[in-house]
Amino acid sequence: FRRLTERLARTREAFTERIDALFLGKKKIDAQLFDELEEILVTADLGIATTMELLETARKRVKRENLSDPLALKSIIKDLLKSHLTVDQQAAELALPDQGPFVVMVVGVNGVGKTTTIGKVAAKFQAAGRSVLLVAADTFRAAAISQLKIWGERNGARVVAHQEGADPSSVVFDAMTVAQSKGYDVVLIDTAGRLHTRTNLMEELKKIKRVIAKHLPDAPHEVLLVIDATTGQNGISQATLFNEAVGVTGIALTKLDGTAKGGIVANITRELKVPIRFIGVGEQIDDLRDFNADEFVEALFT
Ligand code: GDP
Repeated sequence: FRRLTERLARTREAFTERIDALFLGKKKIDAQLFDELEEILVTADLGIATTMELLETARKRVKRENLSDPLALKSIIKDLLKSHLTVDQQAAELALPDQGPFVVMVVGVNGVGKTTTIGKVAAKFQAAGRSVLLVAADTFRAAAISQLKIWGERNGARVVAHQEGADPSSVVFDAMTVAQSKGYDVVLIDTAGRLHTRTNLMEELKKIKRVIAKHLPDAPHEVLLVIDATTGQNGISQATLFNEAVGVTGIALTKLDGTAKGGIVANITRELKVPIRFIGVGEQIDDLRDFNADEFVEALFT
């Protein structure tokens, strides 16, 4: 178990350490301080809109409370970031009901870390005593099927898979039958993420969703979109596409350990208005964390 602060080292260097350096040299709050702060926030991929909104709120508070100590401004920025990152704290954690199956359809572009995230989420739920069924509905790539099987072996979880090229919705049909008859608590469905044939992919995902709902009218209970934090604004554009097709209800943001632009977290919260459930901060099985805005901001600023 490595500490979140260490895993976010790249963002900390680019963001926190720059903010620290900025405030260290300041005796008073002035326009120049705000300008430099703006530059740092935008560079960390916080997004122009979020940055402007945040600084505007901070300016008002400084004026209203007649503050002159730069350190007071620093702690205001930290607090504003925390509250900004929280879409709805109550709804942020993916809470399982007592009675399953709880069906999670996992979507996202190839390479973002979908299969890895499924493996990690499976391990997390199993550790909490839940039975997990993995479903290989990306039948487009043989590698995707075998990778999911490897995670199944590693976790000791059953995997429902057909041959490469099979109809993804028939895999899901079988999986739902198994899940209901055997009473699995959680069903994690891996789906395809080929973007070059976008329309077909979205139709495929919609069909999968219909098949799930035929078995269980209120399912899928979660459509989890996996986004690679290193892709910045691109990830947000992808999100819009998936959201239009299948209605995203939660985000898993991966590879935060590999980027200096961890501010993307704020941008996603603002643009998508969907809670970030998990963050990926490495390739190991315990490198998936429940996202918690307070913890995240503390890890960046400590
Ligand atoms: P998929 O095509 O979306 O299923 O992506 P994969 O699950 O195969 O992941 C693609 C690559 O990203 C693999 O090498 C993973 O080990 C890596 N990966 C996934 N999540 C993370 C993460 O949080 N941090 C880092 N550094 N690598 C990750």
